[in-house]
Amino acid sequence: MADPTGFLSTPRQTAPRRPVDVRISDWREVHGRMRRGDLERQAGRCMDCGIPFCHGGCPLGNLIPEWNDLTWRRHWRDAAARLHATNNFPEFTGLLCPAPCESACVLGINADPVAIKQVEIEIVDRAWAEGWVTSQPPSAAARAAGRPAAVVGSGPAGLAAAQQLTRAGHAVTVFERDDQPGGLLRYGIPAFKMEKWRLDRRLGQMRAEGTEIRCGVHAGVDVSAADLRAGYRAIVLAGGARVPRGLPVPGAGLAGIHQAMEYLPLANRAAAGGSAAAGGTGVVGEPPVSARGRHVVIIGGGDTGADCLGTALRQGAASVTQLEIMPRPPRARPDGQPWPTYPMIYRVSSAHEEGGERVYAVSTQEFLADESGRVRALRLADVDLAGGRITVRADTERELACDLVLLAMGFTGAEDSALLAGLGVSLTDRGAVRRDDRFAAEVPGVFVAGDMGRGQSLIVWAIAEGRSAAAAADRYLAGETALPAAIGASAGPLRLGGR
Ligand SMILES: Cc1cc2nc3c(=O)[nH]c(=O)nc-3n(C[C@H](O)[C@H](O)[C@H](O)COP(=O)(O)OP(=O)(O)OC[C@H]3O[C@@H](n4cnc5c(N)ncnc54)[C@H](O)[C@@H]3O)c2cc1C
Ligand code: SF4
Repeated sequence: MADPTGFLSTPRQTAPRRPVDVRISDWREVHGRMRRGDLERQAGRCMDCGIPFCHGGCPLGNLIPEWNDLTWRRHWRDAAARLHATNNFPEFTGLLCPAPCESACVLGINADPVAIKQVEIEIVDRAWAEGWVTSQPPSAAARAAGRPAAVVGSGPAGLAAAQQLTRAGHAVTVFERDDQPGGLLRYGIPAFKMEKWRLDRRLGQMRAEGTEIRCGVHAGVDVSAADLRAGYRAIVLAGGARVPRGLPVPGAGLAGIHQAMEYLPLANRAAAGGSAAAGGTGVVGEPPVSARGRHVVIIGGGDTGADCLGTALRQGAASVTQLEIMPRPPRARPDGQPWPTYPMIYRVSSAHEEGGERVYAVSTQEFLADESGRVRALRLADVDLAGGRITVRADTERELACDLVLLAMGFTGAEDSALLAGLGVSLTDRGAVRRDDRFAAEVPGVFVAGDMGRGQSLIVWAIAEGRSAAAAADRYLAGETALPAAIGASAGPLRLGGR
């Protein structure tokens, strides 16, 4: 056990965020770092419970009490090894995960939970700084027994699957249609949440281990399903769930209205500015869709909307309003979402600290155009939620002036592509690629991981899926596997009454 009385004597502490006026003038990460001694004391708050619910809260089954204890004892290198035992990319989750583990922490029942995510990022940052993270290429014998395997998509699911399969000895090629690998880590999530050099550093590790990553290759278009079948003994599909949810109201086609995933990639490319030396965070050029000087309305109150908000503020928006159709959630856990579930509560992301206004329980009725055909306002109305139904409240309609609208209402599923048809796999009613609980698609040798099989989700689930799909693919290729499977494909978040 870590410090036996740490949870009594040490209050929870996380890294400070950089001052708002400084951070909105650049694209660098918002979070600062903690002093080593302070972090060790935070790890010492862990009680090493008999039943560590944090394990169940984390889709990766991260060995949280073990690395807390090792960190508190200053065995940082061992802590890094235990962290990597269950997670290929702890710096992605340590910065970006919403930390369902902390909602399940036993200390959180009557006090502030252990700062698990903070400990995670500090361990992996130190591991890189000390040179403890090295490439782990397979042995010559494993390589000789390996088979060619293809991974389609280089988001966190595809990268995790590729790294696991490469380490098991297979000759892995990742096909990515974008010009650079990373999926939403590269072009969806802004650098102020995670700078891109962290991604490039992992890609370097993967290439050194032998994974081939081919960008600018659209599977199903540039390379046919038949060619993939002929060239590779197993295929892991990890193409994400990128079909955006639309807003079918009058005026939705006006100029100045964009999907979040049109706007954010352009902003990310502009922020990267092609400057590797700047770690992809020097601002070069104005993106073709910019918030500079504009009155911006973001429709959708979730994390993607928050990413649009932080991006618009950095681009110099005149104002930003974020609209959400649901009522404002409570600040504390509602009765129906007790420990150890992940509750829907009012959260303030770093972007929300920086500016903008959040408006809840409103619905957009129509977009209005100026004389040039560009959006000049939207008409919205208050709504009531009763018995699961949303109804517009009479006499509450009003106009909200805006000249840039960003739609951030989520995604309906995977793209129904030539690749899927060519492979002979299909989509479910929910827009996910059909698979069984061991990640196998409808045809032998094809596996499905990440948002493409689960629907819009989180990085931690994508990594867990990639690891587990790799284990299934390895068993298919080699007849057995030593790769760990974090989850079954139907696993979900902790719920009352079990998974
Ligand atoms: C704006 C935004 C912010 C987010 N922020 C967070 C966050 O802070 N924390 C968090 O946990 N989650 C966040 N998420 C969710 C998270 O990013 C996803 O759940 C995760 O990236 C899914 O990983 P994936 O590998 O399944 O798919 P993706 O990351 O979508 O990657 C799929 C890749 O496949 C490629 N591809 C698709 N089809 C083909 C093809 N036919 N040929 C070749 N390549 C193909 C795509 O170009 C893409 O690169 C965010 C999502 C969005 C949209
Ligand atoms: S990956 Fe997420 S859920 Fe798992 S330990 Fe890290 S912060 Fe917690």
